[in-house]
Amino acid sequence: MSTAPDTAATHRLWTFHGGLHLPDNKALSNGEPIAEAILPQRLVLPLQQHIGAPAKPLVEVGDKVFKGQIIAQADGFVSAPVHASSSGTVIAIDELPVPHPSGLSAPCIVIDTDGEERWCERQPIDNWSALDPSELRNLIRDAGIVGLGGAGFPSFIKLNPGARTAVDTLILNGAECEPYITCDDLLMRERPEEVVAGARIMRHALNARRVVIGIEDNKPEAYAALRGAVASLKRDDIELVQVPTLYPTGGEKQLIRILTGKEVPSQRLPVDIGVVCHNVATAASVHRAVEKGEPLIARIVTVTGRGIARPRNLEVLFGTPMQELVDQCGGTKPQLSRLVLGGPLMGITLPDVQLPIVKTTNCILALTPGEFGEHGPVRPCIRCGECARACPANLLPQQLYWHARAKDFDRAQDYNLFDCIECGCCAYVCPANLPLVQYYRFAKTEIWAQAREKRKADLARERHEFRSERQEREKAERAAKLAKKKADLAAKAPPGTATGPADDDAKKAAIQAAMERAKAKREAAGVAPKNTDELTADQQRQIAEAEARRAAKAQNDAAATPQPPVED
Ligand code: SF4
Ligand code: SF4
Repeated sequence: MSTAPDTAATHRLWTFHGGLHLPDNKALSNGEPIAEAILPQRLVLPLQQHIGAPAKPLVEVGDKVFKGQIIAQADGFVSAPVHASSSGTVIAIDELPVPHPSGLSAPCIVIDTDGEERWCERQPIDNWSALDPSELRNLIRDAGIVGLGGAGFPSFIKLNPGARTAVDTLILNGAECEPYITCDDLLMRERPEEVVAGARIMRHALNARRVVIGIEDNKPEAYAALRGAVASLKRDDIELVQVPTLYPTGGEKQLIRILTGKEVPSQRLPVDIGVVCHNVATAASVHRAVEKGEPLIARIVTVTGRGIARPRNLEVLFGTPMQELVDQCGGTKPQLSRLVLGGPLMGITLPDVQLPIVKTTNCILALTPGEFGEHGPVRPCIRCGECARACPANLLPQQLYWHARAKDFDRAQDYNLFDCIECGCCAYVCPANLPLVQYYRFAKTEIWAQAREKRKADLARERHEFRSERQEREKAERAAKLAKKKADLAAKAPPGTATGPADDDAKKAAIQAAMERAKAKREAAGVAPKNTDELTADQQRQIAEAEARRAAKAQNDAAATPQPPVED
C-alpha cells in the first residue's frame, strides 16, 4: 500500500482550554468488523430525524414502497426528506415514541418490510466534478443527508457558504472523542476510500482550497487506512492530521482550534472564519448519494458497554428497533444498570429499547453499576472552580448553573450559555455531583420557548396593527370617493343648483312654498272635490243631509264653547 507523507509531523497543532483525559473504553467494540444488522419486520421512520422542520409525508397507508424511495419531503429550507430504508408496505402514519430527550412521541411512517430489499431507480453520477456546486448541493439535499456526528443539521446548508464567503479549509472530523463510541473508527478503517471520495465532492461543493482530516491518535488503524486512500489519489490538497486524544477534541470549535489555530467567535459560525467542518461519516454518505445514487437510509451504530454480551458495530437501516440490535449483540447482561443513547457524557438515558434508530443515533451504551462516571448524591456547590478549569468553551459553568437554576435566563446568556457545547466535562469533574448539563439544557429550552412565544406575540401584534391600518385606509378611501362623487355632481349641475346640505334645506323650503302656492290657488279658484261630480239624486240627498247635520253640530259646538270675557 502506498502511503501519504505523515502530515502530523509537519502540521502545526494548537491547543484549547480545558478538556479531560478519560478512559476511552473503545477496545470493547472496535475489535470486530462492521456487521450488517438483520432486516427487521417493521421499520418506524420518524418524520424529524434532523434539526429543522419535520418532513411532510408523500405516501399513504397501504402504499407499496421501494428501498430508497422518498416517502416524506423536506418542509422548508431547514429540513430534510425521509426515504424508505427497505421495500415493503406503509401500514401506519402515526404518533409514536421517538429517541428524543423530551421522551415525547412524534409523527412516524411505519413500513412492514417484504424481505425483498427492492431498490427504487438510482442515478449514480460519475463526472460530479463537471457539476455546478449548486447542483451537487441539491443532490445532497435530496438524498436527505444530515450531520451524522450527532447534530443532524442538514448538510447541504453547511455546504453553501454563500456567494460572499470564501471557504479556505474543509475539515473532516474523524476525532470521535467520546468514550466507548467507535462507529467512525470502524468506518475509516474499513471504508477509507468512501470518506476521501466524499471529502473531494464536498470540497468541490464548497470551492474550498484544501481539506484537512483530523483523527485522534488513539485510532492508528483508521489513520493508516486513510493514509493509503489519500496517497492513492496522488493529490496534495487533502491533509491527514493526527491530533492528541483529549475529550472533547471532536467538538467543532475545538477541532478547528487545534488544526488551524483559529477561534470561532462567540455566537458565530466556523464559516465566518473561512472554515467548514463535517463528520467523516457524513462525507461517506455524500459519496454514496452522488456516486452511487443512494439516499441516506442506513448508518453504522456502536452497541457497547459492559452491560452488552457482545459489543460491536452494526450497519443499521433507519427505523430498526434498538431492541433488535441489542438482541443481535447477544442481549444485555443481568448487571445492566442503565441504557444510554449516545456516549456516556453527551448521551441521554433511554427509557427502553423499543425506540427506532434514526440518522443521529451513533451509539447504544449499556452500562453496569460504577462503570463510567457514576454520580453519588447531589450536594450544594462548594465553589471549587473545577468545572471552569475543565470547560473547553472557556465558560464559567458554576455561574451558568446558578443563573439557570434561578431561571435568570438573561444572566445565563450574559455568561454565554449558548457557547456551551454540552460536553459534560463540568459535570464529570464536579465533586458536588451536580447535574450541570441538565440545567443548561433546561435553560436553553426555556429561552427558545420564550423566543417562540415572543415571535408569536409579535406576529399577532403586527397582524392587528396591519388590520387596523387597512381598515383606516379603506375608510379614508371611501370618504375620498364620496367627496369626489359629490364634486363631480356639483361640477355637472347647472349654475345655482343646490347640492350640499344647505342647498338641501333650501330645496325643501322651495318645495313647501310651491305646495302652499298651489293650495292657495286651488282655494281661490273654488275647486270642488273631484268625487262630487255626476252624483245620483239619492246620493245628493244623503250629502245634503250630512252637510245639514255637520252645520247643526257646528252651531251647537259654538254655543257650548266658553267665550272670553268682553272687555269694556
Ligand atoms: S465543580 Fe461543582 S462544586 Fe465545584 S464550582 Fe463547579 S459546580 Fe460548584
Ligand atoms: S457542558 Fe458546557 S459549561 Fe460544561 S464544560 Fe462543557 S461547554 Fe463548559
